[in-house]
Amino acid sequence: MLPAFFNPLAAVTRDFAVLFYATRASKSGLRLLDVLSGIGARGVRVANESGSNIEVHLNDANSAAAEVALRNCELNGLTDRCTVTKDDANVLMYSAPRRGIKFDAIDVDPFGSPVPFADAALSTVRLGGVVTLTATDLSALTGRSQAAGRRKYGVSLWRTDFSREVAARALAGYSVMRAASRERGARPLFAHVDSQYARVYLEVEGSARAADESLERIGYLEYCPRCLYRGVSASGQGDPRVCPMCGGELRELGPLWLGDILDREHVEGMLRAADERGWAARSRILRRMLQEVGMPPYYYSLDRVADSLGICVPRMDALLEALTSKGYKAVRSGMHELGIRTDAPHKVVIEEMRRL
Ligand code: SAM
Repeated sequence: MLPAFFNPLAAVTRDFAVLFYATRASKSGLRLLDVLSGIGARGVRVANESGSNIEVHLNDANSAAAEVALRNCELNGLTDRCTVTKDDANVLMYSAPRRGIKFDAIDVDPFGSPVPFADAALSTVRLGGVVTLTATDLSALTGRSQAAGRRKYGVSLWRTDFSREVAARALAGYSVMRAASRERGARPLFAHVDSQYARVYLEVEGSARAADESLERIGYLEYCPRCLYRGVSASGQGDPRVCPMCGGELRELGPLWLGDILDREHVEGMLRAADERGWAARSRILRRMLQEVGMPPYYYSLDRVADSLGICVPRMDALLEALTSKGYKAVRSGMHELGIRTDAPHKVVIEEMRRL
């Protein structure tokens, strides 16, 4: 029997899961399938902390893990709201509708890539429900391993200084395209990326029209590895253009989800839930994220950009103030400690960084 898996470093992502599902369940109940539950760390926390109107189905093919998950439910007095099974994840998801079971949310948290489970989750979740995909193969999703990105997600990526955003948008874009192939639309409500994980929470709607509308927000970013210029690609065809800043050769990254990756109303709900729990560190990140809604689909990592310019990292507050005083929007990013997001043109960001 294989040993069961438990990753204590995933505490932050579990906190956000608690807040996400609490917000989702606040209007009506929720039946969540934690389809690769391991010992149930995430699912049991959601059942315990997100609301008593949540039912959780925990599943893991590793029977040692499933047995610990069951014990976990018993110890937490949750056997009335939690079920534990030991099925193959895809068999469980594909057979659920035939057995008259509909999940309002399916959470997919595999080792590595969620690709083997994404189609089943996106095509069987209840319409209007949520699919959450976790990826730990960040090298494939950030351009560190281009071949793996192409193979698994069908994306062409390059390394950038905003790799967390690239990972979230590549995973969201992949999910939207897979959902569309099943005549379902998908749009991200929330995304969280750290140095080990990318997690994207998507709402899934069912119709060819919803699928087409979602696909309209798929596109490409362009990036110059020489001067770090970035922007939304006008061509969107993967054709390299010349960098408007330095004349270098631009790289195109995509296909990526270029729409909002955070739903304002949902993040506001999560922030209220975090404040109620006194989770100050999570509230701080959610507050930053709220300011980023509707802004360009990339941030600037000040350390990386400063390094490439051969200057010291400017004080973040001073840079934000300088950009804001010129009439641009500029905020700290919730995605990266040293990240800023702004609608200022690249040239202005660089000028201000040099000046400070
Ligand atoms: N969600 C867990 C947590 O928060 O601690 C961690 C899950 S762990 C990263 C991935 C789990 O997927 C493992 O426990 C493994 O046994 C299970 N697994 C892998 N392939 C599976 C399959 N085809 N069907 C069901 N479970 C599977």
